[in-house]
Amino acid sequence: MSTVLVIGAGGVSSVAVHKMAFNSDIFTNIHLASRTKSKCDAIAASVKERAGVDVTTYEIDAEEVPAMVNLIRKVEPSLVVNLALPYQDLPIMDACLEAGVSYLDTANYEPKDEAKFEYHWQWAYHDRFKEAGLMALLGSGFDPGVTSVFTMWLKKHKLKTIRQLDILDCNGGDHGQAFATNFNPEINIREVTAPARHWENGEWVETPAMQVRTEFDFDEVGKRNAYLMYHEELESLSKFIPELQRARFWMTFGDEYIKHLTVLQNVGMTGIEPIKYQGRDIVPLQFLAAVLPKPETLGETTKGKTNIGVIATGEALDGSGEKTFYINNICDHEAAYEETGNQAVSYTTGVPAMIGSAMLVTGKWNGDGVFNMEQFDPDPFMDMLNEHGLPWNVREMDGPVDF
Ligand code: NDP
Repeated sequence: MSTVLVIGAGGVSSVAVHKMAFNSDIFTNIHLASRTKSKCDAIAASVKERAGVDVTTYEIDAEEVPAMVNLIRKVEPSLVVNLALPYQDLPIMDACLEAGVSYLDTANYEPKDEAKFEYHWQWAYHDRFKEAGLMALLGSGFDPGVTSVFTMWLKKHKLKTIRQLDILDCNGGDHGQAFATNFNPEINIREVTAPARHWENGEWVETPAMQVRTEFDFDEVGKRNAYLMYHEELESLSKFIPELQRARFWMTFGDEYIKHLTVLQNVGMTGIEPIKYQGRDIVPLQFLAAVLPKPETLGETTKGKTNIGVIATGEALDGSGEKTFYINNICDHEAAYEETGNQAVSYTTGVPAMIGSAMLVTGKWNGDGVFNMEQFDPDPFMDMLNEHGLPWNVREMDGPVDF
């Protein structure tokens, strides 16, 4: 029995709210607030049709802390689920502290004027959440989120230590557009144009964006080029798995995506510094995001599958020497669309947001303070992935990755 308040009404929110409604024994009252109320109403209408559940909607600017506090006090949720943008993480956490309610998100804080996503801003809230007897769960999407839970499951059931970790994120889907991003375009382009960083022997190694690549044969997708990138779970994994010697994150991009992105970058359209245009300040990347297809409109045409997983090498728990395991989920874009009206990238993020929320409101995961996914028992989360649309597979590989 719980009341939740979800903030943001994009693709990820749409999936999470549908999934909460399908689990109305856990989420008894669902409230949805975002900057544009009509988007909340559209999600509520779809939820009513698909699940027969009422969702109450509101308009809110989540960066206005007093307005957020008022809304939280009115709704009286046991949890605020932040599925807006990373820029809103800190104001929403401030509002949660003031109104006395727990918090969950899927992406770590990023200042608007610097493409730098790091956990330290949110970790700095630990003592205040702890003193208030509240819990904040950070990064409960797929990556970050499930990738950390996969890793901790391997560490609990297969490997005593993890020496080497590679996270592989493949979107084998085709949306039929010349260029579009599968989640918020501004956040996506900031992420992929940032320098790559990986963890090696106790320090960060930086390489230019989209320069290091490998070809990998993904189950049910086929061979794809995967590029080395920085991704936020590398920070929490390297903190919570101290023996980790190397941790890398790879994401696949097609040649068309790279071609368009290169041109856009070369002409300055991906910049985040404001420029003067006809007397007004505009941020080129925000203007670009406004003209690109909205991710939530891609669902209808996207075909193919995503395959996201983790390959870990380390000392086997059973004492049989060094072993390598690959654990992954494969998600079909068309099946995801059929179920919630959203493509698989939103689906693979929204389902773990619902599961993380369920862990919190049922008390299966609990604590006072700010926590990452690595800090809890992976088993109940892994069970819910199997039950709620993101089944996973694990297999032993012949040896460590050779790229
Ligand atoms: P969208 O851009 O589709 O949706 C974001 C929503 O937040 C929009 O409805 C937007 O409002 C709303 N919003 C923006 N600013 C405010 C504000 N100030 N106050 C209230 N609402 C606001 O993004 P996605 O659904 O694709 O992504 C949502 C989040 O999930 C992002 O933080 C993204 O980084 C994260 N993500 C995490 C992944 C993971 O695996 N961990 C993977 C993919 C995404 P409006 O409709 O008016 O624009």
